[in-house]
Amino acid sequence: MRYAPACDMEDIAKILRASVFVLRRPIAERLVTVAPAGRKKVSPLYRYETHMHTSPVSACAKKSVRENVEFYRSLGYDGIFITNHFLDGNFYLRKNTEIPYEEKVRLFCADYEEAVKIGEEVGIRVFFGAELSYGGTDFLVYGLEKEWFLAHPEIMEMQKSEELPFLMSEGALVVHAHPFREAKYIDHIRLFPRGIHGVEVINANRTPLENEMAEIYAEKYGFCRTAGTDNHLGADQAHLAGMESETPLRDVADFIERVKEGTMRIFTTDRSAELGLE
Ligand SMILES: [Zn+2]
Ligand SMILES: [Zn+2]
Repeated sequence: MRYAPACDMEDIAKILRASVFVLRRPIAERLVTVAPAGRKKVSPLYRYETHMHTSPVSACAKKSVRENVEFYRSLGYDGIFITNHFLDGNFYLRKNTEIPYEEKVRLFCADYEEAVKIGEEVGIRVFFGAELSYGGTDFLVYGLEKEWFLAHPEIMEMQKSEELPFLMSEGALVVHAHPFREAKYIDHIRLFPRGIHGVEVINANRTPLENEMAEIYAEKYGFCRTAGTDNHLGADQAHLAGMESETPLRDVADFIERVKEGTMRIFTTDRSAELGLE
């Protein structure tokens, strides 16, 4: 069954109607409360977190790899993509000029590798991703692995307008994360419509306006869509967003294919009541 074939021009009218419907509904109505922690599946579909950060690799992340993996397992997720800040972003050793690129890449991958082991132990799939940055403009990159990054130190010298198409040509799925995010540390919003495949149209940590602008951007350019939490808080994160599918993901390549085809569905969850925040 196809859900929201964002990249399929034949169904564009249907998508636009559906998008408008989603946008017009107040955000509260779109949030579905997940049952408290437990091993029981909370959805008949297979759920995935596409955007999350772990400590220590992401300097801004508050929770360890184990806390994060166990948290998503407790919610009944089937998989998570670890998308820590890469060497050009809020990577914990970014300012260290002594450590060579290759060693930094190994350290960048360490949290993911730990997550894989914990995932095998507790029973949740763990996939590799990275969040690349340019002055507060962020890109989620899926489909390139440790060996690829080790072999390509030249990306650190590239302009993003050159680097993003290069990553795409090397087989990556490039998604502009929260493209309309506004914050004190972001001088201006930058868009790279020729350097991405997709747009994160729901980011659980952004405002309805920022997400609605992302949806319009995706719609007008015919980009495929993703949704993710951008979780820096592990189990303390109140709002979650992710993608779900009717059958389990085989691997990252399968995820990329499904996102491009638009055969996964976006879901959101509000845990505010559970966390005593209401
Ligand atoms: Zn961060
Ligand atoms: Zn992020």
